[in-house]
Amino acid sequence: MPENTTKNTSSSVVIEKEDAPEVTFAELGIDGRVLSALSDVGYEKPSPIQAATIPLLLEGRDVVGLAQTGTGKTAAFAVPALSRMAELMDLNGPTKNTQILVLAPTRELALQVAEAFTSYAKYMDNFSVLPVYGGSAYGPQLAGLRRGAQVVVGTPGRVIDHLSKGSLDLSHLQYLVLDEADEMLRMGFAEDVEQILSKTPDDKQVALFSATMPGAIRRISKQYLNNPAEVTVKSKTTTGANTRQRFLQVMGAHKLDALTRVLEVEEFDGVIAFVRTKMATEDLADKLKARGFQAAAINGDIPQQQRERTIEGLRDGRFDILVATDVAARGLDVERISHVINYDIPHDTESYVHRIGRTGRAGRSGDAILFITPREKYLLRAIEKATRQPVEQMHLPSAETINSLRLGKFAEKITETLASQDVGKFRDLIASYEQEHDVPASEIAAALAVMAQGGQPLLVNDLPAAPEYQKKDRAKDGFGSRGPTRTLTEGNATYRIAVGRRQRVMPGSIVGAIANEGGLSSSQIGGIDIRSDHTLVELPAELSKDQWRALSKTRISGELINLELDNGRRPAGGSAPYRDRNDRGQGGFKKKFDGDRSGGYRGGDRERGAERGYGSDQGHTGQGGGDRRPRHDGGSNFNSKGKW
Ligand code: ADP
Ligand code: MG
Repeated sequence: MPENTTKNTSSSVVIEKEDAPEVTFAELGIDGRVLSALSDVGYEKPSPIQAATIPLLLEGRDVVGLAQTGTGKTAAFAVPALSRMAELMDLNGPTKNTQILVLAPTRELALQVAEAFTSYAKYMDNFSVLPVYGGSAYGPQLAGLRRGAQVVVGTPGRVIDHLSKGSLDLSHLQYLVLDEADEMLRMGFAEDVEQILSKTPDDKQVALFSATMPGAIRRISKQYLNNPAEVTVKSKTTTGANTRQRFLQVMGAHKLDALTRVLEVEEFDGVIAFVRTKMATEDLADKLKARGFQAAAINGDIPQQQRERTIEGLRDGRFDILVATDVAARGLDVERISHVINYDIPHDTESYVHRIGRTGRAGRSGDAILFITPREKYLLRAIEKATRQPVEQMHLPSAETINSLRLGKFAEKITETLASQDVGKFRDLIASYEQEHDVPASEIAAALAVMAQGGQPLLVNDLPAAPEYQKKDRAKDGFGSRGPTRTLTEGNATYRIAVGRRQRVMPGSIVGAIANEGGLSSSQIGGIDIRSDHTLVELPAELSKDQWRALSKTRISGELINLELDNGRRPAGGSAPYRDRNDRGQGGFKKKFDGDRSGGYRGGDRERGAERGYGSDQGHTGQGGGDRRPRHDGGSNFNSKGKW
């Protein structure tokens, strides 16, 4: 590692991504077989974390690698591990013993890591990689272990199960990886991980990879790693780490209210709100003005000169909010833009990146807020990948927050006016009115306040949540926990959806998804009986073609629900069910987003693990840590199939 690019404090190295040394895989000392496989996979050059950790791991050192999601940590540990195994097997001959164990937090991540190992081990003979995770049958895993797998990738819970059954023998282990260590700890696997660590040979090599370094990881690394080299890759990402990305889930009809609320609570300077059509620019700007904001619109129909004048207006602070289409705002460079609001979701990730690049300029910090309807939520992942940065969920400011802000401002305005204006003339007027009409001054002041408000209410009510969640006791009057013993409401039928406890769905998320996507009112949704891998839901027997179509594409926790009548047939009047998992029918948007895949890096998976789709909140905030481990182990909401 060239001196000038690293800060070296004993064995800890911090690398700024942009300053990472330019090396090729071939220069890192990787075994030829693994190198060939890498060239087949098509990676051009090592990512910064790979360039830094691969040589250390090849040397046999323990390593702690810290880098954001999507930075290529899997290959950073898999490539050197395989490379060492290949060479060991040249020396000692083939072996069936498990030499590499990777612990990963979820089934999906375990599967992904196993896939990566398999592809990098393509040219290694007699080599097999076995994923083991909870929530699936033991049979095939036991058979795989009996046959012998040199690499085992597993979730901690299931690995412990196999250890205690005696089906997994770690006595020949050479190399242990804790992947996504922060996530494993967050999911309550700390004890399991330590238990596994304590059952492995002392002389093994350990690699710990994580996006963050909480104290618990530091402790584990101190206790179980042998003088580890610590590598941190700090990314200065393209979108600028100084732009914070958030999304707000909101239904179309509530976007305007949501925007005004967001604008009331956010401390903004200049704002660009992006909409999809020219008409929408004018429309939204007018509505914002009507609500007291200083706004203007630009779109492609407005002559260039006038557009430039408008942009000048934003720059000079003559107004604060510019409502624009992508075309009209291209290349726009106004330093005071503190916020980009994606009022309508952009057509592709490329435009998203361009849009949010309008803020965070000249080293300032910026905020990007994306309004997303429930059915657009699956697109978040593509955005995270494109920006290599997570998009955090934000929540609509509550009526309480807004109202207390408004009351505060109202009072402030009175104080300000009293202090700065000569109110003498009006005082006399009020005094004479008070006498003449025998009305107390407070009443008069109240009437004047109404006048000052211009007919707008001062306070707001809470907006309905998107999507609408189920009342708590719904399940009780539904099927109950023992199955559909109750009688169906007339005109209803029992449907089956392909998500259940394994996906950690909650009745609320099911009602929310079905009501929202299927255009049903929540009262049309009857009993809900959540089983281990599916759920029975009572819905109207007659679903329209459109409802059927919409529901066939609905995902909960990232999984297609594959709605079907519980008797296996589709309801009368509906069109053929869209059962094909590949036919996700998302139209042009999907394709455009899909085209973005070549970028290679994947962002955001880990952050969103259980966050995708509906039912996310319940997943993470669920009380009672006691039963968390098996549920997570059994399958998470993170869904590799939902990959874009
Ligand atoms: P992390 O574990 O850091 O979140 P992954 O290991 O899952 O990241 O890698 C993210 C994506 O980047 C994967 O699709 C992977 O195939 C790809 N990738 C990894 N290394 C490289 C590389 N050197 N060049 C191009 N793409 C890579
Ligand atoms: Mg990873």
